[in-house]
Amino acid sequence: MRAALLSWFDQGARDLPWRSSGDPYAIWVSEIMLQQTRVVTVLEYYERWMQRFPNVSALATAPLDDVLELWAGLGYYRRARLLHRAAGVVVETFGGRLPETAQGLRALPGIGPYTAGAIASIAFGEPTPLVDGNVERILARLRSIPGDPKSTPNQKLFWRLAAALVSQARPGDLNQALMELGAIVCTPKSPSCLLCPVRSHCHGLRDGDPARFPAKVKKAKVKRLAARVMIVVTPEPWVLLRRRPDDGLWGGLWEFPTHLEDEVDASSTLQESADAWLETLAGDTSSWERHPLGTVVHKLTHREITFEASLLSAPEAAELLDETCAWCTPEELGSLGVSTATRKLEALLPDAAFTAPEE
Ligand code: SF4
Repeated sequence: MRAALLSWFDQGARDLPWRSSGDPYAIWVSEIMLQQTRVVTVLEYYERWMQRFPNVSALATAPLDDVLELWAGLGYYRRARLLHRAAGVVVETFGGRLPETAQGLRALPGIGPYTAGAIASIAFGEPTPLVDGNVERILARLRSIPGDPKSTPNQKLFWRLAAALVSQARPGDLNQALMELGAIVCTPKSPSCLLCPVRSHCHGLRDGDPARFPAKVKKAKVKRLAARVMIVVTPEPWVLLRRRPDDGLWGGLWEFPTHLEDEVDASSTLQESADAWLETLAGDTSSWERHPLGTVVHKLTHREITFEASLLSAPEAAELLDETCAWCTPEELGSLGVSTATRKLEALLPDAAFTAPEE
């Protein structure tokens, strides 16, 4: 099976920029970006990232805002924050060099067993396994493994099988061959078994219906939420932004003050609660003119949020009561790390939003 996988990989692997680099840092960045994100999306972000942060010390010394700005749109922002934090640890503790074993790599923030296995095997040639969704699917089909692929016994089994498969020679290529096979041949819905280099070993194919492995697990229900967004502008022009807490959804990114239905107590409506909350950020807002701007619906993996936005015109930049808030220029808004949802909300703003009203 190893020989078949390696020879197939040699002939058919896609030419991806991080594969040819051999640079542990580049492989690390690509592996973090590829978590829950498609290769085509990652390619563009990866190129820009490597130009801006070509090595681990460039990343470690960059302000977090710059890092989040470059990551904006890629989603799961916790990945970027942890990558940045881990770069600091690599520089301070390991003299700028990544640990060379999977076990050593696991000590870094944001590096779990999969990423540690990928970096150690691909960049340092350690014969260590990795298991991601692609590898789970291939192994479940090859050995007709029933049940929830995420269950603890099945996870242990996948790691054992992957460890038995990984070779002393070319472990990184073997791991990449498995991932590549899962991405382009042994795909979730309709595997191309006729093109598969390991079909003669596949129990699922032999038994007639490989696609029934791994078992489908019920997806968590999508939670629908409403939110009120208050885009406050002044004639200077300034716009009021708030930095989200580091943990949780869109952690560390900037946004227009946004009040989620989740945060409303039973005694008030969402709008009343949002208005009261805005006053805790920026004081008395009763003289501010208010206009409805429109609605944006944004889908996340487990949530769908309907944002209703209003434009509030404040006569001047009021003193702020909350240190997570700041008045920013429209240019700063364009360069800060914000989520895709915030960019969609920004697009609702009329061209004249930042111009002072005629006397
Ligand atoms: Fe997947 Fe088909 Fe290959 Fe089995 S034969 S590993 S199901 S592509």
